[in-house]
Amino acid sequence: MSKTDRRTFMLHVIATTSALAASSAMAQAGGANLEETDAQAVALGYKRDTTKVDAAKYPKHAAMQTCGNCQLYQGKPKEPSGACALFPGKQVAMGGWCSAWVKKA
Ligand code: SF4
Repeated sequence: MSKTDRRTFMLHVIATTSALAASSAMAQAGGANLEETDAQAVALGYKRDTTKVDAAKYPKHAAMQTCGNCQLYQGKPKEPSGACALFPGKQVAMGGWCSAWVKKA
């Protein structure tokens, strides 16, 4: 391997490593936590804790319904929060709930 080839190779390694690190950091950050006061969260009755859902307003809600077992939840099983298809760029609590809950298949 010539000196120029080695230099080019090393630049590619550095560029690739930096891109992977940036990508990993973005995936871990995943956006800010969804606030219950967010307009769309309010509209869907989102609560970070499913036990705090207003039973009178949402009579079909059951305590076993959580973001963690919702079809729209995209978080990993052991993480406390994750992305939701309904709230792009935000993290919803695994133990949370909103009126769009759909049982995970
Ligand atoms: Fe949670 Fe599902 Fe509502 Fe998203 S759609 S906030 S995952 S209950």
